[in-house]
Formats: sequence, C-alpha cells, structure tokens
Amino acid sequence: MAQVRRLAGRASLAEVEAEVSVCRACPRLVRWREDVAVAKRASFAGEPYWGRPIPGWGSPTPAVLVVGLAPAAHGGNRTGRVFTGDRSGDWLVASMHRVGLATQSTSVDSADGLELIDTRMVATVRCAPPQNKPTTAERDTCAPWIEAELRLVVDHVRVVVALGSIGWDATLRSFAAIGWQPPTPKARFGHGVEAVLTGPDRELTLLGCYHPSQQNTFTGRLTEPMLDDVLGRAADLR
Ligand code: SF4
Repeated sequence: MAQVRRLAGRASLAEVEAEVSVCRACPRLVRWREDVAVAKRASFAGEPYWGRPIPGWGSPTPAVLVVGLAPAAHGGNRTGRVFTGDRSGDWLVASMHRVGLATQSTSVDSADGLELIDTRMVATVRCAPPQNKPTTAERDTCAPWIEAELRLVVDHVRVVVALGSIGWDATLRSFAAIGWQPPTPKARFGHGVEAVLTGPDRELTLLGCYHPSQQNTFTGRLTEPMLDDVLGRAADLR
C-alpha cells in the first residue's frame, strides 16, 4: 500500500507501469494471479503466463480512455496485456478496429502487432480476481494506480468509455480523486448514456457501455452494432 501511495501524482507513465507490474499489496489477489499462472488452463498449458498486475496499455497521449474492471485470469493475466487473449478482448478490439481506434481486429498476445489509435485501455483493479470480483478493500487498495495513470494522461483525454456499471463508478471515483467534478445531476450508468465530467479548465464526455463479457455477448444483451455505436461515438468525439 505504501508503494502505491508513494507513486500517486509524481511518476512518469513508464515508472507507473514498471512499479505496478511488481505490486503485491493485495495478498488474496497475489495468491490467485500466481496460482492461476502455475495451474494454467489446459488449452494454454504450453504457454508462459504473466501472472502479475497489468498496466494500462495504448497511447501515452490518449484522446479516448477505455476503463474496464480487471484483467481476466486466462486473458490479461496470461498475456500481460489488458483485454488480450480472451473473449472480451476479442469483442472490444474487433469493434475498436471497425470504428478506427485499433490497427487490427484481433488482440491475441503482447507481440501481435496491435496498436491502439488515440486510445488507452486501463483496468480499475490491476490483478485478476477470483470470479472477476475484487473486494471493496482490494478495489480501494488498487485505486491509486489508476489515479496516478490518470494524472499523467488526463490532459489529452476527450472522452472516457466506461465498461459496465463498475467501470462507470470507478471512473467517477478516479476522476473525483484527481479533482474533477461528477455530472450534475447525477448520471446513472446505462449503455449509450452520455455525461459530462468537469475539470479545472475544461469538460470531457463520459460514455456508458455494457461490458463485452460473455455474460453480455452470449445473451445478446450487447450486440456488435451496440458496441460499435458507443465506440464510434467515442471515435467521433476524440
Ligand atoms: S490489485 Fe492493484 S493494489 Fe492489489 S496487488 Fe494488484 S496491482 Fe497491487
């Protein structure tokens, strides 16, 4: 925790990325991420797993910031890159490619050549949690990492895409922590909802988007056109 607090507000992006990658502040999540990396999923048995926290990834000067919950046990926790090597990443990056925010339509591993265009993706909690559910204490412990990253990129950001209600709430908390005002009246999360965050000298747009988890994509709650609508709007606003 002291390591996390020490960084907030005074490191370069490269320093934040390096420091977070060795963070061990949450005992339960450290144990889980490392156990998963040893046990592995059968289909990845021959591959090395990252098994550590996942830094933000993409443009260092992003106009679009995509905020997710946490890396997947066999996705980011395996590949070392957020939204890479899992079904959620497949959906998200394919859509980003369709709307012009990614150079290719697949996100397979950290050496696949994919680049994000004007965009950065960050996870609210940087370690894969069991059942994709961090505790409130773990969420709060990890918060200084996203806040440190936000402070370093926020001057470039024009639009934030919050994935799911958890991403939405985390975005509001993180921006409040760096001195931005929440929407007034209070805006509730919904797919396609737009709200305004007010900073010291300008505003930016917050877009709500259903998370591209299998729970949403398998059930049809989130379709490709729905995802393209929100990410296309983000691309237009950048
Ligand atoms: S969840 Fe965040 S604070 Fe906790 S160990 Fe991982 S990087 Fe560190």
